[in-house]
Formats: sequence, C-alpha cells, structure tokens
Amino acid sequence: MPSHTELAQKLITHIHANGPLTIDDYMAQALGDVEHGYYMKQDPFGVAGDFITAPEVSQVFGEMLGLWAADFALRNQFEKLTLAELGPGRGTLMQDILRVLTKTHATQKLVQATQIHLVETSPILKQKQADTLAEYHSQITWHDTIASLPETPMIIFANEFFDALPIKQFVQTQKGLEERMIDVEQDKFIYCHAPTQAAENFANNAKPPTLAIGDIVEYSPASLSIMKDLSARIASRRGAMIVLDYGYLTPMAGDSFQALYRHEYVHPLNHIGDADLTAHVNFAALSQAAQLAGAKCVGPTTQARFLKNIGIEARFAQLLQSAPAQAQNLTAARQRLLAPELMGHLFKALAVYHTNSAAPAGFHENGQEEL
Ligand code: SAH
Repeated sequence: MPSHTELAQKLITHIHANGPLTIDDYMAQALGDVEHGYYMKQDPFGVAGDFITAPEVSQVFGEMLGLWAADFALRNQFEKLTLAELGPGRGTLMQDILRVLTKTHATQKLVQATQIHLVETSPILKQKQADTLAEYHSQITWHDTIASLPETPMIIFANEFFDALPIKQFVQTQKGLEERMIDVEQDKFIYCHAPTQAAENFANNAKPPTLAIGDIVEYSPASLSIMKDLSARIASRRGAMIVLDYGYLTPMAGDSFQALYRHEYVHPLNHIGDADLTAHVNFAALSQAAQLAGAKCVGPTTQARFLKNIGIEARFAQLLQSAPAQAQNLTAARQRLLAPELMGHLFKALAVYHTNSAAPAGFHENGQEEL
C-alpha cells in the first residue's frame, strides 16, 4: 500500500464519498487546504525550499520593476502611488521596489506614506512578508482575496502568481471533449475523464480549433476571473498591472500541470500537499480577458526582452563597476534572469493599463533577444 500524506488520505475519503475531483479542485486543495495545503504550512522559497523566483535571484529584478512603475506613474501624472502585489511570497519583490522608489529623488514624494496592499492566502507567508517589510508595517494592508482591494488607482505586480492558480484540463476523446479528473483505484490516485458542463462550455466557446484524440487543453477560470476584475478596475479608475510568469503566448494543446518537490519535478499526484503544483500561464487568454474588461494591454513579450527594454543591462553594468567583488554573483543572476534557456524566454511579461494612459515602458519590439 502506498504511504500517503495526511492530505492524500483526506482526499481519498472525499473521492470515495463524492466521486472524482476535477483538476482545479485538486489543485486548490493540495495548495490551499487550511491545515495541510502546500502554501499553508511552509515557506517554499530559496535554496532550502522547492524553487527560486526572480526576486530571490537578484534585487535587480525588483529594482527594475520599481523603476518601471515610477516611470509609468510620472508620465501619467500620478500624484501618489498606491502599490498592490498578488502572491508576494517572502515580500522580497516589494522590498526591492520600495527601496528603489524611496531612494530615487524623482519618486520620493510619490511614495511618501504610500499605501501597500498585499493579496496573500498563506498565513506563513503573510508573517514572512511582515518581517521583510517591517519598516513599512503601518502602510501595509493584507487581503485574502482581490475583492477587498481599495477602489483607488493602483500599480499591481504579479510575479509567479498566476501559475499557482488552479486550472481545469480537458481531454479530446472519441466522444468529444471531456474533463480530466482524479480518481482513486486500489488506494492509488489515477487520472480519468468524464463529460461535464465545464467541458461542454469550453468546447462551445474557447476550444483551440484542431485537437487530436488524447490532446489536453487547459483553462484557468480562477486566473481569468482575477484578470477580468482587476482589468475592469484599471479601466474605470486608471493604474496598471504587470504580470510576469512562465507561460505561452498563443493558445495551444498540452499538459503543463506540474509538481516541484525540493527542486525536482515529481508526478503531480504524488507528495500531495508537500509539492508545489503549477501550470503554465495562458498569456493570450489573460490578455483577451483584460481587453474584454475594457483595459488596454501591451505584450506579452519575453521576460528577457522586457527587462532589457527597461534597462536591466545598464543596471547590471553599473553594479559590476561599483561592486566588483560581487562580479560572479551578478553575472550568474544576469544569466539566470535573461538567458533564453533559463528564465529569459520561458517567462513572459504582460502589462495592463487604462486606455487613456501613456503606455507602460518595456514592450517595444526593438533590441536583441539573445544574451
Ligand atoms: N511573487 C513571489 C511568490 C510566488 S509563489 C515571488 O515571485 O517570489 C506564489 C505566491 O502566491 C505565494 O505567495 C502564494 O502563497 C500566493 N498564492 C497562491 N495562491 C493564491 C491565491 N489564490 N490568492 C492569493 N495568493 C495566493
């Protein structure tokens, strides 16, 4: 008999009582179960954790995003800057953003007593964010969901947030499109599929045109609903949002559901609650949702191109000059963020903004892609 985590036992009982779980329900529980969910019980980041994100690779990443936001706010004559972040992890990105904004002469006034809104479900990570951002404590409000964000213009950051949101998967079968689900057979988790209302709706509305038998397509209602809501706010109240994540530019078939456990890929139905579960982000769908909500989009483009367009090479060169002892670290960080075979190409950037605003920087098509 396989040895199961406590959460796996709980899911087995649930499946025996209620039938197979959809992939999005499974993901939501594996990541968010109040007691045993992956994000609820640990800090997954860093060398000792399961993965390292861009802000954890180098402070330069957050500094560049801070300058990107400042540029947008100044060109659009913002009098103050309200900042929001979705899934802030350890708070590192926001710390780097705030440091650059409070140090830069042109933006000091904009961020004086700025309000900071952090949307986070994990109590452990909320605590970690409070520690990292201790000096800004009186300015921070935490939110469990986007619903309680204020009705003011905001600059919203979402780095590796959307990949953590639940997806549905649909499988093309002889009988049509069916929903992929998770069942239990002889105490083992297995995939199965069945016709569902969601599969029918997807087939009628959003399915990519050519699917072969056995092809899998993905759809993230949670991501689209967050994108739609925030884009509608931007469309009516101004502000902007930048999304950075691994994902694809055009809708396509493919199974991107993946699990990471201590820096290794494992089967998504193993180590339940102990492995991080993610899926690649469908940037075309996010961009479409933003535009349908009345906002404008620039991108998606690759992370490498976006960061180069906003001047990351100049910042690395400056740091190399002022801190030559750090040369090895800086070169490694630059490589990791920009190299096409590392984060540079797999990661994409997309920005959402108000139709009457000057467009956010970083999305023109000039510049070399290669390192
Ligand atoms: N942005 C950070 C962390 C990325 S990991 C970084 O780049 O380092 C994903 C983050 O999203 C974690 O903080 C996780 O707890 C949070 N998260 C996951 N699902 C969420 C949800 N439904 N609502 C709010 N936060 C969520």
